[in-house]
Amino acid sequence: MDTTPSASGTPDAQAPYRTTGALATHAVHAGREDLAALGLHAAPLDLSTTYPSSDSRGEGLRLDEFAATGAQLEGPPVYARLDNPTVGRFEQALARLEGTESAVAFASGMAALTAVLLARSAAGLRHVVAVRPLYGCSDHLLSGGLLGTEVTWTDPEGIADAVRPDTALVMVETPANPTLAEVDLDAVARACGRVPLLVDNTFATPVLQRPREHGARFVLHSATKYLGGHGDVLGGVVACDEEFARDLRRIRFATGGVLHPLAGYLLLRGLSTLPVRVKEQSATAAELVRRLAADPRVTAVHYPRLGGAMVAFEVRDDPHEVISGVRLITPAVSLGSVDTLIQHPGSISHRIVAAGDRAAGGISEKLLRMSVGLEDVEDLWQDLDLALSGLRPRPEPRRETAVR
Ligand SMILES: *Cc1c(COP(=O)(O)O)cnc(C)c1O
Repeated sequence: MDTTPSASGTPDAQAPYRTTGALATHAVHAGREDLAALGLHAAPLDLSTTYPSSDSRGEGLRLDEFAATGAQLEGPPVYARLDNPTVGRFEQALARLEGTESAVAFASGMAALTAVLLARSAAGLRHVVAVRPLYGCSDHLLSGGLLGTEVTWTDPEGIADAVRPDTALVMVETPANPTLAEVDLDAVARACGRVPLLVDNTFATPVLQRPREHGARFVLHSATKYLGGHGDVLGGVVACDEEFARDLRRIRFATGGVLHPLAGYLLLRGLSTLPVRVKEQSATAAELVRRLAADPRVTAVHYPRLGGAMVAFEVRDDPHEVISGVRLITPAVSLGSVDTLIQHPGSISHRIVAAGDRAAGGISEKLLRMSVGLEDVEDLWQDLDLALSGLRPRPEPRRETAVR
């Protein structure tokens, strides 16, 4: 029985994931329920690569079992490429927040997506139906054929017609990187029929959207972004049913794209503040959206109906001048950190996507993507306002540093 507290503080095994109150509680407690009994407060960080055992006959049988099924090992760990207790805590917590049975963590978001594609192509399914825009490297991984996948790009209305007997999955991102375009997940899930729907939930986070509740079978995160939340850890995770989690664990064991335990530790810690970060950053983003929308130097503002802390906007003048004009805001790719970042998707995050495909995905060359952090809204606006004015001098070119 699930004994984690629900919003009201009473155990409730049936519907613990629905309300935001429960989510905030799970963010702090999931994956840590056993700590008090262990006499611990903070989750332990286990950096061991290997674990001693005098029973090699027994270990052999356990390894057979893992290789055959991908079921999480019972008892002590064996070797860090199979599993790690600290990473396991993060997986448990993320599964709880997404309302899925299981979750499997990887070295990065791209390693997670790769494992999903490999697991499906091992079942003979290599065709993917996808809706643009996707994160630039996801687009590249699918359309570049690096893993032998064949992709059919379509709009949400075309999904049912694009699905074939050999379709491995349907992939959407909502809100999408970088335009923040949204798709109706319930409608998309219906159009998928029996084909699994993979939703990249990196931008929304489980705080704003739990795709499982809308019929998605696989929920992907670049944990590097909001889950970590501090710009200091690279990771990825797939939240899904236990049956697919077993396929993913076998792939992860055989291909080695594991999440480092320190990253698992930082991600678990990041989850505790995820609800407050997302709430606070979203409020600031909504205010910046209001001001940008009223500004004549801005020709379009994209902000999801769902809300969130990502803002995209198109500028009348040169977007590169805005990037070189910010001082408080960091001009850098990536997102989801406590500080505000801005970047030009056409030059960086979506550079790897062919210009024509970028345009097809609605990514204008005038588009800027901003990840709103926890700074004071007036300080952020002052910085944006000056950057938009184009009055700031270009910064000095980067100097060579003595130590490399
Ligand atoms: C960054 C990102 C990824 C890739 O994640 P990495 O952790 O950088 O490998 C995938 N999807 C989205 C939406 C992203 O923003």
